[in-house]
Amino acid sequence: MTETAPRPAHKTFDVSAPALARVRSNRRITPLFSADVRHIVLDTSGIGYNYVEGQALGVVVPGTGSPGGLPRLKYYSIASSRSGDDGLGQSLSVCVKRVVEPEGTPSSSGSHYLCDLEEGSTVALVGPYGPTFPLPSDPATPLILAAAGTGIAPFRGLLAAMYRDDSWQGPVRLYHGVRTSAEALYRTELERYASQPHFQIRHAFSREGHAADGHPCRIHHLMASDAPDLLNLLLHHNARLYICGVRGLEDTVESALASSAGSLWPSLKNRLLAEGRLRVSTS
Ligand code: NAD
Repeated sequence: MTETAPRPAHKTFDVSAPALARVRSNRRITPLFSADVRHIVLDTSGIGYNYVEGQALGVVVPGTGSPGGLPRLKYYSIASSRSGDDGLGQSLSVCVKRVVEPEGTPSSSGSHYLCDLEEGSTVALVGPYGPTFPLPSDPATPLILAAAGTGIAPFRGLLAAMYRDDSWQGPVRLYHGVRTSAEALYRTELERYASQPHFQIRHAFSREGHAADGHPCRIHHLMASDAPDLLNLLLHHNARLYICGVRGLEDTVESALASSAGSLWPSLKNRLLAEGRLRVSTS
C-alpha cells in the first residue's frame, strides 16, 4: 500500500490568491429526466494544488459576492484519490448536482456555475481542507461508509486509493442511498470493487424500494438489517464509520445502530468520537 503514508503538509490557497485550475472535462453522469449530476475533472498541473483523498475544496463563484462583499465560495468534497482519476497526480475531480430552484427564484447555490463550466475554462480554487475522511494508515482497518446522493464523492476517492494496488485487506461496507437506480452515481465503478475480498456495497433506492415498515428504502434501513455485523466491526475490529451527504443522515444512521446496540451505544459512540473513528460531513 503506497497511498497510506502520513499526509504531507500542503500549501493551502485562500481567496486573496486562489489556485487557477483548468476544466479538463465536465460530464453529466445521470440520465436526462433525472437530477443533473456532473463529474468534473480539473487540471491542476503546475499550480501546486496538492491534496489527499477525503479532503474538500472551495470554488470561488464569480460575480455573486456575499453580503459582506467577499467572493462567494462553494465547497465540495474531492472525488478523486490524490493521484487523480488518471493516476498521474495532475488533476482532481468533483461531483456536483445542479440545484434547481423553484421557478421565479433566483439561483443561489452556485451549482449552475459549476455544472455549466466548459472544457478549457478556468476555475479559482481555495483550500484544500481536511481531510474530513482520512485514509487509515493500516490497510486492515474496516471501513463503514454511509453516503447519500453526491455524498459518495469523498468515498470514491478513498476507494480508488485503497484498491489501486490490491493491497487493502480491511472489510469495507459501503451504503449508498439515492432516489432512483438511474441516479446511482458511479455505480459500475463502485460495484467493480466487489471483486475485492471483504468489499460489500448496498444501494438504497428511496423512490423504488420499500423498507419492511413500508417507508421508502433508505440507507439506515439497510444498516439496521446489517447492524450485528456493523457493530461487531465497530466494537471489536477498530472499524471507522464515515457518513457523508444530506443533513440528518448522521441521525438516522446512528438510530439504526443504536437500536441494535441498546445500552452499549452511548459508550461505543463516545469511544468512536474520542478515537476519531466516527466522522461526519452533512449539509
Ligand atoms: P438527495 O437529496 O438526492 O438524497 C439522496 C438519498 O438520501 C435519497 O434517497 C434520500 O431519500 C436519502 N435521504 C435523505 N435524507 C436521509 C436521511 N436522513 N437518512 C437516510 N437517507 C436519507 O441527495 P443529494 O441531492 O445528492 O444531496 C447530497 C447532499 O450531500 C447535499 O446536501 C450536499 O450538500 C451534500 N454533500 C455533497 C458533497 C459533494 O462533494 N458533492 C460532499 C459532502 C456533502
